[in-house]
Amino acid sequence: TTERQRKPDWIRVKAPTSKGYGETRNLMRELGLNTVCEEAACPNIGECWTKKHATVMILGDVCTRACAFCNVKTGMPRAVDPLEPMNVATAAAKLGLEHIVITSVDRDDLPDGGAGHFVKVIKALRETTPNTTIEILTPDFRNKMEAAVEAIVDAGPDVYNHNLETVPRLYPTIRPGARYYASLRLLEQVKRHDPRLFTKSGVMLGLGEQRLEVHQVMDDMRSAQIDFLTMGQYLQPTPKHTKVIEFVPPKAFDAYGAIARAKGFLQVAASPLTRSSYHAGDDFRQMRAA
Ligand code: SF4
Ligand code: SF4
Repeated sequence: TTERQRKPDWIRVKAPTSKGYGETRNLMRELGLNTVCEEAACPNIGECWTKKHATVMILGDVCTRACAFCNVKTGMPRAVDPLEPMNVATAAAKLGLEHIVITSVDRDDLPDGGAGHFVKVIKALRETTPNTTIEILTPDFRNKMEAAVEAIVDAGPDVYNHNLETVPRLYPTIRPGARYYASLRLLEQVKRHDPRLFTKSGVMLGLGEQRLEVHQVMDDMRSAQIDFLTMGQYLQPTPKHTKVIEFVPPKAFDAYGAIARAKGFLQVAASPLTRSSYHAGDDFRQMRAA
């Protein structure tokens, strides 16, 4: 059946209509920037954009991979826009961002996987808005991982995020282009290369994972010294995407959150609408102030 699954009450979100929402959207259009908020059809867009919190997606809007959960277009990407680093910095300045989250599509077609472009974006932000803290959410860079991670870590972001997305058993169907242990190793390498940098990762729930598998992922993350964890409900962006197996109730998220804190994560966000970048700035500032 192609019928969309009925969402439980705790998933309903308000339509975005505020003034801040419109201003954020216009600025992104003006500067020709893509956001994961729109490309991933994120349910929090009304709330985030009202507060002028957006996650910029660099390196184009076409991805060389096709993960079963992801709404981003797949195909042969266009050339990298050399003005993008400056435009990202302009957006950060105009929106008055205290914290910015930068992510990208996978660019398996580029010799450095796009790492050099991440570095340029970080440098442009440091020059234009030196007080904005920078969180980057990168792809796995496949066989270019070590060089890519070193270059990006040396550019000095504040938080390095890379999502494991799901439990290892579900990788072949959900994240077929990626390897669970490669992603874990990436995060471990970030920490080894610069222990001052905070590392962050996240998983989506509702894809058929078992509770003990989720606990195992948390343990794996802690052994890779990952500092922050996000957990949210997977939502099917279109009927072509992988189906929701289960809507995990808010109480179960609370229980996962408590376990994660007990396992030693510095910061945990776990709720149905938590996304990798949801409240990222608030959480980071609170953590630093603590
Ligand atoms: Fe954008 Fe992240 Fe907010 Fe979603 S949660 S609207 S992706 S900033
Ligand atoms: Fe989406 Fe990232 Fe997978 Fe590309 S690699 S399809 S952007 S989740």
